[in-house]
Amino acid sequence: MDAPVLKTSLPGPKAAALIARDNRRVSPSYTRDYPLVMAGGSGAVVEDVDGNRFLDCAAGIAVNSTGHAHPEVVAAIVDQAQRFLHMSGTDFYYEPQVRLAEEMAAIAPMTGEVKTFFANSGTEAVEASVKLAKYHTKRQSIIAFLGSFHGRTMGSLSLTSSRVAQRRGFGPLLPGVYHAPYANCYRCPVGMKPDSCGAECVDWIEHQILVHLVSPDDVAAIVVEPIQGEGGYVVPPQQFHQRLRDLTASHGMLLVADEVQSGMGRTGRMFAIEHFGVQPDIFATAKGLASGMPLGVSCARAEVMDWPPGAHASTFGGNPVSCAAAIATIKLLRETLVRNAADVGEYLLAGARELMRKHEVIGDVRGKGLMIGLELVKDRQTKERAVAERDAVVQACFYKGLLVLGAGRNTIRLSPPLTLTRAQAGTALEILDQAIGESARAAGH
Ligand code: PLP
Repeated sequence: MDAPVLKTSLPGPKAAALIARDNRRVSPSYTRDYPLVMAGGSGAVVEDVDGNRFLDCAAGIAVNSTGHAHPEVVAAIVDQAQRFLHMSGTDFYYEPQVRLAEEMAAIAPMTGEVKTFFANSGTEAVEASVKLAKYHTKRQSIIAFLGSFHGRTMGSLSLTSSRVAQRRGFGPLLPGVYHAPYANCYRCPVGMKPDSCGAECVDWIEHQILVHLVSPDDVAAIVVEPIQGEGGYVVPPQQFHQRLRDLTASHGMLLVADEVQSGMGRTGRMFAIEHFGVQPDIFATAKGLASGMPLGVSCARAEVMDWPPGAHASTFGGNPVSCAAAIATIKLLRETLVRNAADVGEYLLAGARELMRKHEVIGDVRGKGLMIGLELVKDRQTKERAVAERDAVVQACFYKGLLVLGAGRNTIRLSPPLTLTRAQAGTALEILDQAIGESARAAGH
């Protein structure tokens, strides 16, 4: 399928009618940036209900790792669905769940034996990781990072600190959660420069949190996104994760990597933490794991996953159809797609850096593989956030047939399916170029 191909004004009549029905009956808590009503898709192309085709650089919030409706994933789903849909891995055994646990152990970014707990989503995978860390260490506190996103159920939400709107009205949250500044080199929280950075932001944990707020021997884990996702696609320096690893090891804390968004090949490695030469004790992943079928996992070093029967479980977690989709997804990732993410990602990142030379409004371009952010600013010196301009670019892209999402307050995120071709990446760059140019002119830049 070629894209973009726009046949109607947007939204078209069928899309408008469905959105009106949605407005009457669906929770108003969802954040729809533009009126896309999907009818079908293939690879990185999405068709809406009016026959308009879009190039997809959003992938259902970084989920459709193998592209839309990859035939091998669909075949695995159909095959499993014809056998049985559910049996609950909590109380019974079935091969797809065992097989996927074996696959996770084989691809896990850590040496030694690995065991897997099965959930249905990213937030549940994080909840399981936090519960396991507490259970295993017999400690109560957790350290997380400002700007992080770990999910919206009450435990994960207590760690999430990406936007106030996500927490407002839901307190009190879990006690014993402490937030440290994340290593954002474009906006260094401790005023350092990238070339002389020693990850001094980690000093904040050592010299502030662990001195004034909580004793190190009460901290079960530091939970960190290897690359911050919803917070703005922020890539920390190498030393950041290395210092976190050293700090946790020296105090008997666990290092938990939240790979829900950055995992499953998105960054050009199977897991983003691999870029930093660090091994976590536990990691959570979801999103791209099963190409869009709901599934989340928490994987841990076998000696850490020591909770007894009944300690944690889920009726639907590890659904056999989702597991079959994940097994097919991992096969495709290993065969070609992780490599493609690295290759096309490099091309897309270089193209985005070219755009930065042309458009003053782009203050920073960063990313790894196909996890790329373009941060918009009103002024490159002051780095004042160009929030309205970012929103305008996201909208403009849609009306030109390109699907992108925002991340953080002023960053455009590119998180396409890992099947994206160089030609499609080129098309995405052309549309971004036009959309950024028009939006910047409209804002008087
Ligand atoms: N962790 C990270 C890093 C995420 O990006 C997300 C979702 O965006 C989650 C956890 C929560 O995942 P879910 O929405 O599947 O609950």
